[in-house]
Amino acid sequence: MNHVLAIDIGGTKLAAALVDEEGSASRSGTRPTPRTDVMAALASLIEEVTDGGPPAQAVGIGCAGPLDLATGTVSPVNMPSWRGFPVRDEVQKLTELPTVLAGDAQCFALGEHWLGAGRGSTSLLGIVVSTGIGGGLVIDGAPLLGPTGNAGHVGHMSIDVNGERCTCGGRGCVEHYASGPNLTRWALENGWSPAAGADKADARLLAEAAAAGEPVAVAAFERGGRALAGMIASTVAAVEVTTVVVGGGVSAAGKVLFEPLARALDDIAGFAFVRAVEIKQSTLGVRASLAGAANLAWQATTA
Ligand SMILES: [Zn+2]
Repeated sequence: MNHVLAIDIGGTKLAAALVDEEGSASRSGTRPTPRTDVMAALASLIEEVTDGGPPAQAVGIGCAGPLDLATGTVSPVNMPSWRGFPVRDEVQKLTELPTVLAGDAQCFALGEHWLGAGRGSTSLLGIVVSTGIGGGLVIDGAPLLGPTGNAGHVGHMSIDVNGERCTCGGRGCVEHYASGPNLTRWALENGWSPAAGADKADARLLAEAAAAGEPVAVAAFERGGRALAGMIASTVAAVEVTTVVVGGGVSAAGKVLFEPLARALDDIAGFAFVRAVEIKQSTLGVRASLAGAANLAWQATTA
């Protein structure tokens, strides 16, 4: 059985696995992401997963962005010790294998398309709604990465051209309405407060309040769901994805997010091909990016 080495690099955790052509992981491991010398931790994780295991043919890396595919370098927002870090070349040197790189949200989309909620779909948009909003596109089965590797940044599509400034410098980005911290911020500004004894206001507590019918919490998810629906309708109109898979911590809110999202999409979308899009919740969860990194490596071996 042939294998590839899949690697998922995030601000809190490094993960790696040997994955076969069917998507089964034979060996896997994780490490907390250290503040400094991330490469040493990654090297030891790679050794743990590959040592004594079946040989790998290629390596696929999903990494938090931003990244630059032209140079194979990454500058993850939550990893200050990596700025313009040549992760692709470093891993290639270490493993002596062909190595490919993509963003972690792009790998999420690829993973859900290969083994998760988007299995069998022609073209798919994957959205990770968490501290920020990331995304990735799979078009006719292949990842759409773009010349610098930054295609699919749907969290920074504007759904209000006269809206407030976003942290990216743009205006009216969907992230400013629908990410976890922005849902919570809006709810707090509009009079919601978490129950006494709660550690701190966050999207998980807000989702619990919405599920219990607290009106401001419900309104926060209505507003966030509507922003996501606007972005989804625009994306479907542009590239005709048939399926949207939503993951990330905020997606665990379940129907308090997905019901208003579906209602808003019904209101916003016009053309039949836009209205036909299917919205699904992630089934792979935190494993999606690693699965996608494996799929990226498999696609590279057959390219
Ligand atoms: Zn933005």
